[in-house]
Formats: sequence, structure tokens, C-alpha cells
Amino acid sequence: MAEELLENVPVFEVTNVTTQKIHIGSFGALWRGCLSECDVNLAEENPQEVEDEQLAVELDCHVDTAAEIKQLCSIDELKTGEGEVDPEEIPEDTSLVTLGVRKKAVERRKELLIDRACRMETFMYEMESRGVRTRPEDPSDMVDEGELVLTLNLIYPMIFHKHKEYKPYETILVLGSQRLTELRDSIKCISDLQIGGEHSNNPELAPENICKDLFKSAFFYFEGIFYNDMRYRECRDLSRTIIEWAESRDRGYSNFQIAKMEDYTFNDIKLKIGFPYLYCHQGDCEHIVTITDIRLIHHDDCLDRNLYPLQIRKHWFCTRKCFVCKLYIAKWVTKNDSFAPDDPCFFCNVCFKMLHYDKEGNKLGDFVAHAYVDPGIFN
Ligand SMILES: [Zn+2]
Ligand SMILES: [Zn+2]
Repeated sequence: MAEELLENVPVFEVTNVTTQKIHIGSFGALWRGCLSECDVNLAEENPQEVEDEQLAVELDCHVDTAAEIKQLCSIDELKTGEGEVDPEEIPEDTSLVTLGVRKKAVERRKELLIDRACRMETFMYEMESRGVRTRPEDPSDMVDEGELVLTLNLIYPMIFHKHKEYKPYETILVLGSQRLTELRDSIKCISDLQIGGEHSNNPELAPENICKDLFKSAFFYFEGIFYNDMRYRECRDLSRTIIEWAESRDRGYSNFQIAKMEDYTFNDIKLKIGFPYLYCHQGDCEHIVTITDIRLIHHDDCLDRNLYPLQIRKHWFCTRKCFVCKLYIAKWVTKNDSFAPDDPCFFCNVCFKMLHYDKEGNKLGDFVAHAYVDPGIFN
């Protein structure tokens, strides 16, 4: 028993990179076994009451007496009550040299300040503070006490030339009791939104069906097990080809297992913290998944179960504008296009139709056109 317990305490296998394999649920249970009720308690606390109670214990008196003493000794009692004076404001008639110097410094700083919210920073800040201290309206949506929170980094497949050196990633918080399929459904990837086919002859009839609705198969690979999404009738076992390839001709890989993604929660599986695992969908769209942290849920976390998996970091994607008007986001991409200044060339819906079709909607010239989905859609 003791050995099994120790097995699930994460120890770095490769220094500062990955731990050894641990069973997530058992790891959480070890923690809950060590902590007391008040450590995992998620009930809302009134900070004033907690402070008064602590003071009462320190002074060895009743809570009411402690509250009264605190009030009598507070800084507010030292104020005269004659209007508020802003300590930041420097009086005009001062003879103090230090204040004179400070006044000049403050004025200079005002000149240097540019009053403009930085888009990237605002975006990052908003993402990070999403859900902080959020409590559910319906108490039944409350996250359970002692629940585990896993931090996952999910790397985008390489889609931009400018990111060829550095791969952007998003960070997601997921609960230990959530199913792998809940994570799968929350992952937003541009390849799910593609519309297949060439539509230059009938742009109005470009199918609405996006790849996500047509090709529903996907898998996660964690520690020798392929967890296939098999929730729908159309789902195929994407891992089969990989397993067959690995097992043929003695490539040195074997003992791969297959499981259903919908049957497992994170608490049920074994993982190494820091190890690069795989999420694959749309046949060959691959994302590296790394679990960077596992911890118990905290008072100040988002406590609304419905908001998980919670995205807390995401990359800002540049949007591709129409090559003609340079105003609207591109919806079409053309190739071998004699009207276009570039190959491939991107157009918004209006410019695409004005340039390539006559009033009756007949195609002009010879070109190939595909529907284009802009990655900026996720910003
Ligand atoms: Zn993808
Ligand atoms: Zn345009």
C-alpha cells in the first residue's frame, strides 16, 4: 500500500522537465488525506469576520470586544474629519525644495505618458482574470471541495510562416473529474472550421458544412493509450493506422492500447507532468498537449463547474484582410487568378464577387477559388 502511495507522488524523472508517471486520482486522494477540512473548504468567507475572530483569539477576549478595540485603534480615528486632502496633490505655496522637485518630476511624467490601452496586454489580462473568484448562480454547479485542477498547454499546429521558430500555445484549466471529451469539445482549432472543395463556379452554393460536422474522429494519446472519440456513429478509430504501422516490421513500439475517450475522466488516467502528449483530429491536425501543473482547487479560483475547461491564455492571431479593399476580413482565396495581384490572393466576399463575376453571376476568367477561414475568428 505504502509503495503504491509513493508511486503517485510526482518526482522529477528528467530534472525540471517531466515527472514519473502518476495516477491523477490517487495523487489527489493523497493530498486530501493530508489536509484538514478547513484547507479544502470552498465556502465564502467574510474577511472582516475572519479578522475579528483571529484578533479575539490573539487578545483572548470576546469577538465583539475585539471588533470594538479594532475600531477604536483604526487609522480612521486619527482623522480630523475636515474634508479629505489628497496626499498626491502638491500645494502651490510650498517652500519645501523636495516638493518642488517632485512637482517637476510629476509634470514630466505626465508628458511621457501615452494614454492608450495596449491591445495585446488588455487581451492577455482579460484572459488571465477570466473566472477568477467566479461563483455559480446555481449552487449545484459549484465545483466539489478537494477537486483537482490540471493546467494544460496546448500547442497550435504550425500554420504561419512567422511562427516557424516559436509555436504559439493556449493554456486551459480542466477539472480532474471532467471527461476527456469535455476537453476535446473545448479545443478550438481552425482546421475544424474549414469548408472543403473548389467553389469558383458556384460561390453562392459553398457548403455550410464545416469539417467539424463532417469528420468527428479524434484521439488523445496519453502514456501508451489512444483515447478515441467514439461518441458518434461516424467516428472512426484514427489510432488504428498508427498502431498497425508501429507494430509492423519490428519498429520497437508495441503494447499500445485503445480506449474510448468518453469513458475516462482525468482522475482515471495516468500521466507524467511536463511530458508532451498528443491530440489529433481531422485526420492529421496534431496538437502537442503538456500538463504543466496539477493542484487542488482554491477559494479564489473559478468555482462554476460549467465554465471549465477554462481557457486562461491564448495567442492573438493576426487577421488577413482583403487584398482589394484592405478593410474586411478575407473570406475567399484564389489561385491561378489573372485578376489578382498575388497568388494565392485573398478577398472579402464583396470584392471577390465584384471582381470575378458579372451582374448575372457568371464566372469571368479562369481561376480556382476556395472558402477561407481566418484564424482571427478566435480572438
Ligand atoms: Zn487542430
Ligand atoms: Zn474587400
